[in-house]
Amino acid sequence: MSQSVKAAGPTRRGFLKALATTAVVGSALPPAVASAAGSGTRSTHDVIVVGAGFAGVTAARELRRRGLRVLVVEARDRIGGRTWTTTFEGEQVELGGTWVDPLQTTVWREIEAQRIGFVADGAAERTLFPTENGFGFFPPEESFGRQGELLTRFSERARELFPDAYNPLARADLLRAPDALTIRRHLDSMNLSALDEKWLTGATGGLGGASTRGAYTQFLHWWALCNYNAEQYYGINTYKPATGMNGLARSILAEAQAEVLLNTPVKSIADDGRQVTVRTAAGSVHTAAAVVVAVPVNVWRTIEFAPGLSTAKLQASQETFGVPNAKKLWLHLASSIGNTYVHAPEGYPVDTLVPYKQTSRGWLMIGFSGEPRLDVNNAAQVQEAVRLIVPDARVLSVKGHDWGGDRFALGGWSFRQPRQLTGLLRAVQQPQGRISFATSDIASGWSGYVEGAMESGLVAAKQAAVRVAR
Ligand SMILES: Cc1cc2nc3c(=O)[nH]c(=O)nc-3n(C[C@H](O)[C@H](O)[C@H](O)COP(=O)(O)OP(=O)(O)OC[C@H]3O[C@@H](n4cnc5c(N)ncnc54)[C@H](O)[C@@H]3O)c2cc1C
Repeated sequence: MSQSVKAAGPTRRGFLKALATTAVVGSALPPAVASAAGSGTRSTHDVIVVGAGFAGVTAARELRRRGLRVLVVEARDRIGGRTWTTTFEGEQVELGGTWVDPLQTTVWREIEAQRIGFVADGAAERTLFPTENGFGFFPPEESFGRQGELLTRFSERARELFPDAYNPLARADLLRAPDALTIRRHLDSMNLSALDEKWLTGATGGLGGASTRGAYTQFLHWWALCNYNAEQYYGINTYKPATGMNGLARSILAEAQAEVLLNTPVKSIADDGRQVTVRTAAGSVHTAAAVVVAVPVNVWRTIEFAPGLSTAKLQASQETFGVPNAKKLWLHLASSIGNTYVHAPEGYPVDTLVPYKQTSRGWLMIGFSGEPRLDVNNAAQVQEAVRLIVPDARVLSVKGHDWGGDRFALGGWSFRQPRQLTGLLRAVQQPQGRISFATSDIASGWSGYVEGAMESGLVAAKQAAVRVAR
């Protein structure tokens, strides 16, 4: 996820940056078919993949590699799901998932294999972080160094609880009590000074929507994936594919050679033990030997399954895995702060601002918000929110997305709540009959990231291929 920060020039990052290129190799081909299938349409395939986010397109390609005929059914008029490459003030921007890292080997190697090239975002010159009575400017090394120490303290049990980051239940025997804790409960147990508390809630609270929602163990799991290391944790939000995330998704889907239906929300999925029937909201009917459901966990509850979803899956969908109040926005900001990374304590309506590019009138910045009432497409509202941190801020324009209000997402990145790791994860990963489930939300590794979506898509494709062969 993207609320953590770009490190201020660590060595590893500097090295990788030298390897990055802004060259764009556009190999994206249009999907084979891209239209909504109307009422009465019937089709038969080996496998149907529902949802064309990264989990779905990865599953579709893997199935094709195994020689299977695949239909991809996507509700939106575009692929990519919770990644969304668009433009703002003439720039290619992302309204959802953005950054990738060499630690995330599947997506990193995919970008290399597609010869897409990487773009490295620049580092901020200074930071604006909380002080005892407001906000103050700091050199990035000082603020990220100090915050990194606090995060290290926060995560001191990560090695013990997550010795194998790709098998998060390896120490299930130790996880029961810690997995019951929210981030808030753990913060409260740390005896932090008021200022340290502000610095830590700024870095941890918003990740799960609120420190009272997100699980302490989820943060420790991410920490383990970053080798228990603050520099690597900060570094994972530096590189992005030059084509944008959607260019990458299109390249993968092109290789799937699948039939693709856009603008086609799936209404119901019925498994009679011999085949699976997918009905769309428009009334078309499609059958296959297996189905991969590659929609977010939060969306599962909106699709009619027969037989019904398992108790664990229904519970997960109702409780939510994806952060329900996640919002991302792009701002054109005129103010005195310039190339400054801003981190506010939890509770501010805009809690993070990441400088992107200077313009003749100010800076393009990326912002994050967990405030349900903030309209991230309303410049006046966003300006009022930013002025709580930067009093002279003038928001010239804004473009954002409320992922919780998006009916095909119902939430942003995944961040588990207490007891979901130990109580639900294994169960929600299981196929039901001829139906497999793929989404970053249920990945064993990088859940909450594009990497996790690809991991999950590969697992589900294998499960579906076995069912086709039966
Ligand atoms: C604001 C934000 C910032 C993020 N930052 C990063 C980042 O920097 N780096 C990173 O790696 N990850 C980041 N993530 C997370 C990453 O974007 C997601 O984990 C990943 O894209 C999820 O992929 P997915 O395939 O599991 O689900 P999705 O991308 O949600 O795909 C599911 C698809 O199913 C479709 N669908 C839903 N319902 C139906 C239906 N009824 N019928 C048919 N289709 C349906 C949806 O339209 C969608 O296309 C971020 C996410 C957000 C929201």
